[in-house]
Amino acid sequence: MTEDVDQQALDEVVRFTSDLIRIDTTNHGGGDCRERPAAEYTAERLAGTGLEPALLERTPGRTNVVARIEGTDPSAEALLLHGHLDVVPARAEDWRVHPFSGEIRDGVVWGRGAIDMKNMDAMILAVVRNWARSGFRPRRDIVIAFTADEEASAEDGSDFLARRHPGLFEGCTEAIGESGAFTFHDGGGRQLYPIAAGERGTAWLKLTAHGRAGHGSKVNHDNAVTRLAAAITRIGEYEWPVRLTPTVRAALTELAALHGIDARTYGIDEGPGDIDGLLAKLGPAAALVEATVRGSANPTMLNAGYKINVIPGEAVAYVDGRCLPGGEEEFEATLDRLTGPDVQWEFEHRQVALQAPLESATYAGMRAAVEAFAPEGYVVPYCMSGGTDAKQFSRLGITGYGFTPLRLPEGFDYQALFHGVDERVPVDALHFGVRVLDRFLRTA
Ligand SMILES: [Zn+2]
Repeated sequence: MTEDVDQQALDEVVRFTSDLIRIDTTNHGGGDCRERPAAEYTAERLAGTGLEPALLERTPGRTNVVARIEGTDPSAEALLLHGHLDVVPARAEDWRVHPFSGEIRDGVVWGRGAIDMKNMDAMILAVVRNWARSGFRPRRDIVIAFTADEEASAEDGSDFLARRHPGLFEGCTEAIGESGAFTFHDGGGRQLYPIAAGERGTAWLKLTAHGRAGHGSKVNHDNAVTRLAAAITRIGEYEWPVRLTPTVRAALTELAALHGIDARTYGIDEGPGDIDGLLAKLGPAAALVEATVRGSANPTMLNAGYKINVIPGEAVAYVDGRCLPGGEEEFEATLDRLTGPDVQWEFEHRQVALQAPLESATYAGMRAAVEAFAPEGYVVPYCMSGGTDAKQFSRLGITGYGFTPLRLPEGFDYQALFHGVDERVPVDALHFGVRVLDRFLRTA
């Protein structure tokens, strides 16, 4: 295996990850965030390679960075590489290391964003700078986007870019972004590398029940709180039907095969089959698919009343709903039925579900790049239970994959570190990521 990246790239990915963590870009929601210093940091590193990054803001301080590397084949479709610059909040008193220290301790970089996803931002920068040093040019145009506001509404980030600056993404047909190609230890000694080829849609709902306000001591069969409580109980207890999308069916089939099981014997090639029986056979790897075999709707917030002896005229609840690709209509009909005639529901926030093909050259290229540097690994597809910036870029006709390669040791729970306490990433994992990303992009 020839080594394509130089020592400087390996050093830079670690330093850039640490530096970006030290730039506090906490997104508190409601517009309370400032990505600009991190955006300037990335733009300066790109400018050093001769690129001309554009800094774009809808709101002052909420800065996005976009740059284009011209490929050698002008007829080839362009590829978008994206990473967000903001992070979710962290309470320092909960952490073993200060979350914005970027400290490197015992071969591990600590801090908010180490996994989600300043690590990927740093990998992109390290690869591009390495190419500039060696004079390498990719075949396809590669558009790089560092976005603001992914951890809230994306209105100042990818939504703004897709809406107001579509020209910057001209020719892009595919995108590589958040989450995927990390080591998942399956408990049976196997190391899986799940590549994301789909996302469930977001359907955040507001439920409102109306009734007759009045004294808490009187007879009242028209109580908004009682009505709302009944509706959200029905929603919370509802068992959503299994609906297997092509990505999830492929994931189940490949995971089953690794366990020596023919998934067809569980009847999943036609309908839902015995999905619970199959998931039970997959051990810890079931976690990669169990949230995406069906839609979901979890009540998360309740709001009603202002005094114990006053029946309020209105009660409100919020529900975090998620739809499978193609499942939107069924989702809405189900909500109508579960809420009933006395409770109204509406979308508070809605984002499309995504599905990307597994037969593409790009998926094959990602797989080959992982296998080149992790020959012990098994690449499998999966669908993300939540969403990323790929949803916004899909409006430009761009098919998104989740691919942020990291080789992680056993006991390092990648998914628990997302938005978790003591978020951190091993230096070795960053080196692996740079090598795999570089290899994939050279062959893309
Ligand atoms: Zn993220």
